[in-house]
Amino acid sequence: MSSMSEIRQDPTTREWVIIAPERAKRPQHISKRTLAHDLPAWDESCPFCPGNESQTPDEVLRLPSSAQVSAWEVRVVPNRFAALNISGNLERIEDGRLFRKMDGVGINEVIIETPSHNTTMALMAYEQVEKVLIAYQHRYNALKQNRQFKFITIFKNHGCASGTSLVHPHSQLVATPIAATHYRRRLDVAVDYYDDIGKCLYCDLIAEELREKARVIAETREFIVLHPYASRVSYETWIIPKAHYASFGLFPQVHLSKLAIILKDTLLCLYHGLNNPAFNYMFDTSTTEDEDDPHYHWHIRIVPRLTTIAGFEMGSGMYINTVMPEDAARFMREVRASLVKEGTLSSE
Ligand SMILES: [Zn+2]
Ligand SMILES: [Zn+2]
Repeated sequence: MSSMSEIRQDPTTREWVIIAPERAKRPQHISKRTLAHDLPAWDESCPFCPGNESQTPDEVLRLPSSAQVSAWEVRVVPNRFAALNISGNLERIEDGRLFRKMDGVGINEVIIETPSHNTTMALMAYEQVEKVLIAYQHRYNALKQNRQFKFITIFKNHGCASGTSLVHPHSQLVATPIAATHYRRRLDVAVDYYDDIGKCLYCDLIAEELREKARVIAETREFIVLHPYASRVSYETWIIPKAHYASFGLFPQVHLSKLAIILKDTLLCLYHGLNNPAFNYMFDTSTTEDEDDPHYHWHIRIVPRLTTIAGFEMGSGMYINTVMPEDAARFMREVRASLVKEGTLSSE
């Protein structure tokens, strides 16, 4: 029955996705694999490894803050190869009748997640992941004080197919003076829903997914983990906090330890279930101007990079996903249950 293809609409974007399950691509077994690459714990040529601090620009944050230079647990440094400049003119310039531009102003920082060269967030201690999240939020809230920046994106590229160029575990933060149409679209949909129904779309989505259960992988007191109804790629995974905050910047810091648990556990399930796949994750959050917005609701999107985007996706804007989200969720629940059983994963 589930081999019939469907075209599904994402209620948060109104985008349509083709879900066309391929029998051959169905998950069948839970495979176990250690890190795909056999790397040393320390690499003398890696600019992110301890002892090589002088190879990066001066750090903007060190955790613990009292630590000696080389005894850090998390570091945040400006990206040496940033695409944007810290200062410039934000005036829009009309560049001919149809064209408009401005100076490339923005901030790009790298969060070095651990001194260890050869690990990945899925395998880190919960406390280490929490420190990374504290660093994210600390830098987010520091950069939003600069009113030039309207939008701050926190993201991670893991594995070759994700676009990363360095293997040492790291993530990035980019602050830009404009809010991309990508976010505006999501916000517009959420505002329309709020106007019609009088409630937050994402709060309602959580309630509906918990009622349906088919796409839910895990639920804790604070979070829900699910494959969205119209997943654009196989095993696309969202972590949505139950508490309503438009912005990650306002998410109470006391909850970051719980977020660390659910984030690490979710990545560990993907790691074991899909053989350490390449992925991107993004913190979808409001603009810095809309942090008290009743319509938007921040969340994390994890997008495994199991296939590449091709001409059809680029031409139509529609994605083809070859795994039914319900099948993916059933599989990931099994992976999760087996990891809980063997004590690898917290059962909370
Ligand atoms: Zn390294
Ligand atoms: Zn909400």
